[in-house]
Amino acid sequence: MPADCLFCRIAAGEIPATRVHEDDTIVAIRDVNPQAPTHILLMPIAHIGSAADLTAADAPLLGRLFATAAELARSEGLDNGWRLVANVGPEGGQTVPHLHLHLLGGRSMHWPPG
Ligand code: 5GP
Ligand code: ZN
Repeated sequence: MPADCLFCRIAAGEIPATRVHEDDTIVAIRDVNPQAPTHILLMPIAHIGSAADLTAADAPLLGRLFATAAELARSEGLDNGWRLVANVGPEGGQTVPHLHLHLLGGRSMHWPPG
């Protein structure tokens, strides 16, 4: 794991976060600066820089990330819909270079995003 990666350190428990899910592959935490009533970050424990680094071999991991997002959306009561976002690179708005999905819900979402 890269020693200076914030989300590697959060996933390893070295930096505190409010965890809403944890298994052998995935950790999900509440975003420290929420942009919606529900704002959860889902990430693999193993370091992957961004979606730009994914290959077909990561299909099982992505399936688990999406299925976990759907479970969390249910448990958060997001029955009217929700949004999953993966920011990639500087122009994509990515600020933490460890792959994560934003699960946003609890308010109406707008399109296109900023
Ligand atoms: P990105 O901009 O890379 O797509 O998303 C990074 C997200 O991580 C942002 O929404 C930001 O608020 C969140 N974040 C940054 N630092 C921390 C932290 O230390 N703890 C938690 N829980 N979230 C963080
Ligand atoms: Zn990392």
